Amino acid sequence: MNTKQDLLRKIPSVEHVLEQARIRALGESLPRWAVADAVRTVLAEIRSSISSGRRSEGPDLEEIVTQVDDVARVGARRGIRQVINATGIVIHTNLGRANLSHEAAAAVQEVATSYCSLEFDLETGKRTKRTRHVEKLISRITECEDAFVVNNNAGAVLLGLNTLADGKEVIVSRGELVEIGGSFRLPEVMDKSGARMVEIGTTNRTRLEDYEKAISPTTAVLLKVHWSNFEMTGFVESVSPGDLAALAHKHGLVMMEDLGSGALVDFSRLGVAKEAMPQESLRDGVDVVTFSGDKLLGGPQAGIIAGCSNCIGRMKLNPLARALRVDKMILAAMEETLRHYLETDTVFEKVPALATIFCKVDELEPRAGRIAAEIAEAAGEDVTVETGRAESQVGGGSLPTAGLATSVIKITSTRYSPDEITARLRRGEVPIIARITDDKVIMDLRTVRPSEDETLARNTVVALAGGG
Ligand SMILES: *Cc1c(COP(=O)(O)O)cnc(C)c1O
Repeated sequence: MNTKQDLLRKIPSVEHVLEQARIRALGESLPRWAVADAVRTVLAEIRSSISSGRRSEGPDLEEIVTQVDDVARVGARRGIRQVINATGIVIHTNLGRANLSHEAAAAVQEVATSYCSLEFDLETGKRTKRTRHVEKLISRITECEDAFVVNNNAGAVLLGLNTLADGKEVIVSRGELVEIGGSFRLPEVMDKSGARMVEIGTTNRTRLEDYEKAISPTTAVLLKVHWSNFEMTGFVESVSPGDLAALAHKHGLVMMEDLGSGALVDFSRLGVAKEAMPQESLRDGVDVVTFSGDKLLGGPQAGIIAGCSNCIGRMKLNPLARALRVDKMILAAMEETLRHYLETDTVFEKVPALATIFCKVDELEPRAGRIAAEIAEAAGEDVTVETGRAESQVGGGSLPTAGLATSVIKITSTRYSPDEITARLRRGEVPIIARITDDKVIMDLRTVRPSEDETLARNTVVALAGGG
């Protein structure tokens, strides 16, 4: 009978494991630090399982080497990497929101690896503002006087409120005190901005008189916030941006609108309710609109501020602007994305978010059929694969009730539960993110890029196979 001490003494040293031929070979293809980390992790696990009594046999070198191989491969992987989005949620915040166009990605690549004209005017040879090119494009597309770009829309709202209403009152409807995905809650951002929130109306109804009655000598801003991720129907009333802007101007106040997504193109041609457009709000008299760069716009993460030059000029001088500053890669991607919008006949093909949202189910169906057939052929007897129709979602807090008709692959297996299948799909060479509905694993083709079809089929077959 081995005592714990005997077993512990039999654990090889890190050096000894590193000298094994298989581990040395592993070091050729993987970073040395990953292999060394893996050896330490595996040995520590063995030590702890012996000490706690979970293990009563001595360590086996062969077994250690095999475990190190597995752990090192996982440990060597970059944490942030490509996944296949088979959820059908187009603007999926957890999966990185909008994919960039090839042109935008190429622009990022170019400036990422070289010096660039970030804050340097090539005409005059003098220093200049980094956001100037993007501002010009936003002003042109949304027909506004001035624009600015910050880190994200939450930052845009913070900068806007802090600049326009620090120590003053901001009037907002109770029906618009929204939360967007956990960390953005309008009242909390307002609080951090230094503005004092004055809530008016009720959850479902707020009228123009409610705003008017609440205006005081310390009021600075009338704020409107887009519902984004929910809808309200029934006994509902709210004030249009135009009417609110007119009221603000009558009292010498600023009207600001947080549009959330802010669609630069008309989404009503999807055949569903249209998403608010910044150009329309600005035309209706709104002084400042803010919206995200990586929601329906389809660009990189950014917060866009557009509107009157007086308000935005003040925001640019606010010290917070520096804290919310965007880098050269964001600006390159944003400029290239906005340039797509200048070509109205190709923008729906060029910007991946738009192409994905507007893609017709007829285009998805043949792809689903091909992939399903490939999986069915290669997978074992235990697997059932079907195709069918379902609904995809726009996501990103946009058009929450707009279901986009889509084509899906449905998978079940007698060997693995749906939860086990989705877990195995996530652990693959290229992780696949799927969902479960009615005890079936569902892969929505809308958000799978056609160039990923092969990989999706192959990795699904691997995930459904035994072992691992
Ligand atoms: C998404 C959203 C935000 C936050 O935008 P980020 O770009 O994610 O910071 C703020 N307000 C509304 C209404 C939104 O929909």
